[in-house]
Amino acid sequence: MCCAAIERLRVHPSIEDVRTSPFYETAPVGVTEQPPFLNLAIEARTTLSPTDLLATLKNLEQELGRVRRFRWGPREIDLDILLYDSLILSTDRLTIPHPEMHKRAFVLVPACDIAADWPHPVLQKPLDALLNAVSLEEVTPYRGPVPCV
Ligand code: ATP
Ligand code: MG
Ligand code: MG
Repeated sequence: MCCAAIERLRVHPSIEDVRTSPFYETAPVGVTEQPPFLNLAIEARTTLSPTDLLATLKNLEQELGRVRRFRWGPREIDLDILLYDSLILSTDRLTIPHPEMHKRAFVLVPACDIAADWPHPVLQKPLDALLNAVSLEEVTPYRGPVPCV
């Protein structure tokens, strides 16, 4: 599923230079009675506005068969915008930086693989500094079959 998403982003006419982190396996938080999640971070250049990017990602989630269940439950795919340049934005439908990103090891670990120096525009610290402040216990490199090449 993640591979299909990466592939769709790579061929999108308004998205370029797609770079991906390795995959990580993450034990579910909150609702723990479910299989582990597979997580990765993606960096890309785009001419899409933040709102259009969100719409594109939501469409992609639908195309890839995301079914609405309950929040934080199992899902086929979740494509969130973590950062957009140094933009700070807060509306009903879109908050950038993603409001939970600095607390989530499953976000920061892969994000640091590809953008460790990226300054968090609100906290004004690079991502690797934010990573130092979270527990890494739940996040492990994915050692299953190579999900995509
Ligand atoms: P979480 O925010 O805890 O990661 P989630 O990703 O599971 O939760 P979703 O069901 O995917 O939540 O999305 C809920 C809503 O969050 C979306 O409809 C979207 O409008 C809104 N949203 C706000 N900020 C963002 C963002 N930075 N990236 C993606 N969605 C966002
Ligand atoms: Mg999410
Ligand atoms: Mg989401």
